[in-house]
Amino acid sequence: MSVYQFRIFSLSLVAFALVGTGNWIVTADEKDGDSQTELASQDDEKEYVPKTKRQLRQILTPIQYSVTQNEDTEPAFKNRYWNNKKEGTYKCIVCERDLFSSKTKYKSGTGWPSFYAPITNKNIGTRKDFRLFYSRIEVHCARCDAHLGHVFDDGPKPTGKRYCMNSASLKFVEKKEDSEKD
Ligand SMILES: [Zn+2]
Repeated sequence: MSVYQFRIFSLSLVAFALVGTGNWIVTADEKDGDSQTELASQDDEKEYVPKTKRQLRQILTPIQYSVTQNEDTEPAFKNRYWNNKKEGTYKCIVCERDLFSSKTKYKSGTGWPSFYAPITNKNIGTRKDFRLFYSRIEVHCARCDAHLGHVFDDGPKPTGKRYCMNSASLKFVEKKEDSEKD
């Protein structure tokens, strides 16, 4: 490589680094602008950094880990929120995104916390689950991919859906604590 070629090469490296940094800043700015209208549901989206499996093992209990990361299911009636009647918000245990409200929680008789709708469809994701001999629709957190439970078509009005959730995937925040921030 001649001195001239080396200079060109160094310059392109500098340019590449600058462009790279510039892109990153622009992306961050755009995110701020675009997300204004979605802030209520997206909350701290831009600040969320996915946790490693190792970090998750430190912050989650064994049942919270096995349910959210390995799609395990808690025993019916032997979980924290199946009979919780308090008003408030059920957040993702891993990333704290708002998932379900006590307003859509209902008594399903299954022994798992059941809701007829999420707070917003954008905060959850679904995919087909073939782990049993019949297929089910798996439900997970749209932000951190934590497994939450399954959704079935035998729920009450107005949606007809039954979001059958694991308590271990959820963190309940009672309403009075929430309203202090408002
Ligand atoms: Zn999450």
